[in-house]
Amino acid sequence: MDAQTSSFCPECGGPLVAHSVAGESRRYRYCPGCQRPHHDHPTIVATTFIAYGKRLLWVRRAIPPKQGLWAIPGGFVEQDEPLRIGAARELREEAGLGIDPDELHFYMLGTLTFINQIYVGFRGRVDNGACDPGPESLEARFFNREECPWDKVAYPEVNEAVQQAYDDLERDCFQQWHVEMTADSYQRTLIETGALGS
Ligand SMILES: [Zn+2]
Repeated sequence: MDAQTSSFCPECGGPLVAHSVAGESRRYRYCPGCQRPHHDHPTIVATTFIAYGKRLLWVRRAIPPKQGLWAIPGGFVEQDEPLRIGAARELREEAGLGIDPDELHFYMLGTLTFINQIYVGFRGRVDNGACDPGPESLEARFFNREECPWDKVAYPEVNEAVQQAYDDLERDCFQQWHVEMTADSYQRTLIETGALGS
């Protein structure tokens, strides 16, 4: 079971137990009181790589977790919220950056199994570097790869995905990636964009 798995039933508060069906164990737990399975489905995080020249936008977190450390802007998608709308909202909240959601392009899709998240990455560009971070961030700044404070990043687990974004930015050629990150591995594959039926 991963770290985010709940131990108690959110309905009745009773303990959740391991579950099996026809002798085959399941990944979810079960509440014997409610006689219902309890799923810890992955949450969905929308994140955005915003380029200004050869620099990418980072925000320094003002709130826990990882307070004071730098991250690519992003956050949980809310109920009833389309992905790009959520990504644009996070940019506004974390960096004070207003960008039309239609200007955000799909870039990465992946799993972060060790934190039970599905990760959807967008990319976009701005032609000036003005930011006005809100209360969620201490600072919002654009860094090129060398300027980036790699020793002060909030989520070093995703550094390889960020490095990929710098690679694509420096080559000025953005492809679309499927990334799978587990506690001990990072795998990426190009998403095929060929014509259907070819
Ligand atoms: Zn229950």
